[in-house]
Amino acid sequence: MFGLIGHSTSFKDARRKAMELGFDHIAEGDLDVWCTAPPQLVEHVNVVSAIGKKIEGAYIDSCFVPEMLSRFKTARRKVLNAMELAQKKGINITALGGFTSIIFENFNLLQNKQVRNTTLNWERFTTGNTHTAWVICRQLEKNAPLVGIDPKKSKVAVVGATGDIGSAVCRWLSNRTGVAEILLVARQQQPLIDLQKELQGGRILSLEEALPEADIVVWVASMPKNLEIDSSKLPNPCLMIDGGYPKNLDERFSGNGLHVLKGGIVEFFEDIGWNMMQLAEMERPQREMFACFAEAMILEFEGCHTNFSWGRNNITLEKMDFIGQASLRHGFSAVGLNSNPPTAIV
Ligand code: NDP
Repeated sequence: MFGLIGHSTSFKDARRKAMELGFDHIAEGDLDVWCTAPPQLVEHVNVVSAIGKKIEGAYIDSCFVPEMLSRFKTARRKVLNAMELAQKKGINITALGGFTSIIFENFNLLQNKQVRNTTLNWERFTTGNTHTAWVICRQLEKNAPLVGIDPKKSKVAVVGATGDIGSAVCRWLSNRTGVAEILLVARQQQPLIDLQKELQGGRILSLEEALPEADIVVWVASMPKNLEIDSSKLPNPCLMIDGGYPKNLDERFSGNGLHVLKGGIVEFFEDIGWNMMQLAEMERPQREMFACFAEAMILEFEGCHTNFSWGRNNITLEKMDFIGQASLRHGFSAVGLNSNPPTAIV
């Protein structure tokens, strides 16, 4: 069985969804009430892949919201409790979606293996970041030419370059796509310098310096709120792939040669018959999902019960190849520009 641990993009959003699901008593509570809410197993689902593999899975809402990030103990408890629930339900491989994997890493939850009477088995969890990075790179390679940008001649800014997904994207762009130049953006300098050494290339710039030069921008920064940027300072055309959750960019931001693509989202080849992605506001919630969630499904389809994506900056090109090939084989495709009406690209 595969599992998905998710959360809402904001407290406001979480309350609205809880109301829709009939949990009025929780919906009406303030943030303190939400901080004490336990994780919920919201849904079970059966899925058959494009090559006929049958699996079952479950969606667990951690009841975490990004407004809790500053409350260290709460954030830690939310993630560990959701993981405990997944393990108690006998789920073989569970994806830690959105901020849950970031909290796991940044708050060093590896030290918290014991949750009440459950000893967490890390092999049962994956961040899903290998598949997310592969999907973002594929979206870049397939969609840039559609808006008149040749990936091999392009300068690509990676915002969040030193992160787990960002560094994997940089590795792929440098070794596989062969882009003209990678502009490395993050706040801390030393990890940027280390990454530049590893890549044997790339230019370290601030966001303000990078944007006017970038034909393509990959947004994979762990920001709790989205940004507004001045589109008049961007090249025309410009492709922006927003892989953040919550989104890194303000959604209103598009037009005049600027193309914004939902990054790290895949589409299954047929409707799945689940409700969980309605909560995540996918355009086609019956078949669209986060690439990290899809990674847990792919690993279950493959019978690969291991923490495939784990730790930070461990994503290799070989692992991206493996998960990418399996993704295509089982019927997933990366969402493309103008995906409504659907134009997913395989
Ligand atoms: P990490 O925590 O590993 O990396 C975050 C990166 O963002 C770091 O390079 C960090 O560097 C940088 N960063 C953070 N804040 C800022 C800022 N204000 N300006 C510039 N850079 C910043 O995160 P992940 O790689 O695991 O995840 C990245 C994003 O992808 C998150 O939003 C996450 O929710 C999303 N995600 C999406 C998935 C999907 O399926 N679509 C799956 C998993 C994650 P520094 O601190 O030095 O600035």
